[in-house]
Formats: sequence, C-alpha cells, structure tokens
Amino acid sequence: MTDALLQVEALNVDYAVGSGGLLGGGRKFLRAVSDISFEINAGETLGIVGETGCGKSSLGKAILNLVTPSGGRVLWRGRDVTKMDRKELRALRSEMQIVFQDPLSSLNPRMTVGEIVAEPLRVHAPELSAEQRNKAMIEMLERVGLRADMQNRYPNEFSGGQCQRISIARAMIVKPKLIVCDEAVSALDVSIQAQICNLLRDLQRETGVSMLFISHDLAVVRYMAQRILVMYLGNLMELSPRDELFERPRHPYSRALIGAVPEADPNLRIVDSLVALEGEIPSPLSPPSGCVFRTRCPNATPACVGSVPQREAVGPAHTLACHHWRTLYD
Ligand code: SF4
Repeated sequence: MTDALLQVEALNVDYAVGSGGLLGGGRKFLRAVSDISFEINAGETLGIVGETGCGKSSLGKAILNLVTPSGGRVLWRGRDVTKMDRKELRALRSEMQIVFQDPLSSLNPRMTVGEIVAEPLRVHAPELSAEQRNKAMIEMLERVGLRADMQNRYPNEFSGGQCQRISIARAMIVKPKLIVCDEAVSALDVSIQAQICNLLRDLQRETGVSMLFISHDLAVVRYMAQRILVMYLGNLMELSPRDELFERPRHPYSRALIGAVPEADPNLRIVDSLVALEGEIPSPLSPPSGCVFRTRCPNATPACVGSVPQREAVGPAHTLACHHWRTLYD
C-alpha cells in the first residue's frame, strides 16, 4: 500500500502517423512514451527533463487524461483515471490542473481576465454565488501579484509574465492537489522566469499542492524539483533525488545534460568527465535498437545495440537504465 497521490505504472503513449491508405496497411505508430513508471507524493515536485521531442508533454497529457495511454496505468489516489466515470472525471479535472508554455494562446482572448480566472469555479464549485466567485477571483488575482482593477482587461493587454500569472491564478482557484507545469516558464525572459518559479514555490508552500514540472531546462528543474526524471526518446534514463543527480549522475545521458548547463558548478568533482552531447535525436518513428541513447552515447558497446537496458535500483529512490553504470561512474 502506498500513500502516493499519483502513481504512473509502465505507461505507454502511441500516436498513429499517416493515413495508411484505404486498408490502413501503411499506418505507423510513433511511441512517444515508453514504459514510464514513477510516483508523486503530496506536496512534492517531480521534474521531468529531456530535450525537445523526448515525450515529456505526452507524458503530462496522459496523466491528465488528455490523451489515452496505449498501455500501463495512471492511478490518482489509487483510482485508474482511464476507468473513472463522468462524476469522478469532473472531480479529477479540478484536482489536477495544467499550466501551459504559451500563456497568451492558452487564455481565451474574448474573455476578460476576471472571467478567465473565475470560470473554473462555475464548473467545479457551482454552489458558490456570483458574489463569492468574484471575491475568490479578486483574492486569487492579488495572490499571484496582479491587481483587482485588472479584472476587466483582456489577455492581449498583458505581458507574457503577467499572462502566466493569470494562467496560474486560473489553475489555483479550484485548489488543485496537482499542477502539471508544461514548459510553463520556457517562453519567458530569465528574470520573469525566476519570478514565476518563486510564485509557484510560494503557492506550493502555502497550499501543499504537488507539481509535475516539465522542462527542457535542467537549471530550472533543479531549482523547482525535489526529484528529477530524465527522459530520452520516450524512455526513462534516470530517476533520482535532485541533489544526488547533480552530485553524482550515473547515466551517460544525465551526465551529458548536466554538462550542457551553462552554470554547471565548476567545483563539482564530476565536471571534468562530463561530455558534450553531440548529434541529433533519432526519429521516434525508427528508434535505435537496444538502448535508445546508443547512437549518441560515448560509452556505447555492442551490448547496447543488442539489448534494451532494464531499469535498476541504484539507491533509495534512485533508478536508471544503462547496461554499464556499474563500471562507468559508480
Ligand atoms: S546502455 Fe550503453 S548506450 Fe545506453 S546509456 Fe548505457 S552505455 Fe550508453
């Protein structure tokens, strides 16, 4: 028995690609997420990191039941989200919220900011009067650093950072238990990124909300998350407590990602042995055999071509998938 809020078990997400002609014979499937498992506990932030196109967003959407997994399970407080009835799904929608990368395009341009922020209450708290909704909306606007008198303005009158504050207010107004932040600060200037990250951390401290923080930016994930899952081509490479990952990354891909962080700590003893990541990510339509990272891995051997590395526990709450981790950096 576990008290995890969210459990993801051997999750697969496939997308059909191409029409496949009249008989559908040429139809291909792209595996965006492959056999991913993890848990998130109450009040915790799990970071998901990897290069663009590694399946991070598909994973987030599958958790939110916005795409249907082709295998595995997503359990929310012990209940399989794909088997929920309409009433349970409505409750799930208020308990899990998402903040997207592009705040302006995720906000309805024809609604005022006040309407945007208060709208989820109409659906998820219909018992509230208009006056109570309005009061909650104003409190939420002020909590995210906006002013009550901004409620009658439209999204296009705000900066990118302010729009993201509006998105966060809209997500938080229903008091969710989990927020999926999908590249939520990637489109913002660095100073605004820091403000939004600090706002999310403050809200987490105040409310106990859990977060799944998805980003290609390892420095931002390091700031936000207590544990980090490193993904490559839809697969889990390493799942580790944050500090352990940075102090002692054992997977060659994690090491390459950390080496690419501009402000990587020069005092880290591993820094001399970090290698630059070269080459392009292979097409997910024809992933490499064996270890999917082998075409870019400086440590690849014939064994990496022939068989898929299994996920192994290398310490408490620390797992990875590499044939050679014991001899490489342990
Ligand atoms: S299994 Fe082989 S190719 Fe894959 S990360 Fe480990 S050493 Fe590199």
